[in-house]
Amino acid sequence: MSAVDTRRAIADFRNELGGNSVRGTIDGVLEFAKEFELVRGLLFKHVFDAVEHEVQLRLCVPDQSHSKFEYPGQHWKNLGYRERLILEYHNGPLAGHIGRERTYELMSKDYWWPGMYESIRRWCRNCETCIRERGISGVTSFSRTQYYSRPFRVLQYDTVECNNPRDESGKKYILTVICCFSRCRDRQAWRSCKR
Ligand SMILES: [Zn+2]
Repeated sequence: MSAVDTRRAIADFRNELGGNSVRGTIDGVLEFAKEFELVRGLLFKHVFDAVEHEVQLRLCVPDQSHSKFEYPGQHWKNLGYRERLILEYHNGPLAGHIGRERTYELMSKDYWWPGMYESIRRWCRNCETCIRERGISGVTSFSRTQYYSRPFRVLQYDTVECNNPRDESGKKYILTVICCFSRCRDRQAWRSCKR
């Protein structure tokens, strides 16, 4: 589409919407559009990643209804695509109600929409689980994660090799097993880490 066609399309679009829904001058809209890119039918926004020091793409999430969800204590609610994503990142089985900043940090690595931080802030402020636990110390996202809900349901294994083992039997590997629920741990010395 040529620049003239694009300008005419934006002007027509503004007229159809009554003029106020698309803000700024047409030149401003065209300039803003340079920050976006269509890839296989999906709209992405160019975002500079300060950690990687490069411009990366973030998927633009539409402001549309996605599905109904039975929200605990609030019956069935209509959720949009954006809310459905926040639900996954904040309330999901492995999310564990991480804080507002961490939720935003994780989501902003993949997605973008206007006012995304405010959407996440509002969601976290109204989250019943977070409200209930506000002010209670010792509760972490780790302990809220559903998969860690009972002893010995999830175990973490790790092996450490000792360079100068004191054990004369020649055992130079230490296997550590930790229960994710209770943090109960056990250690064993092994000759080899192969089974
Ligand atoms: Zn929460």
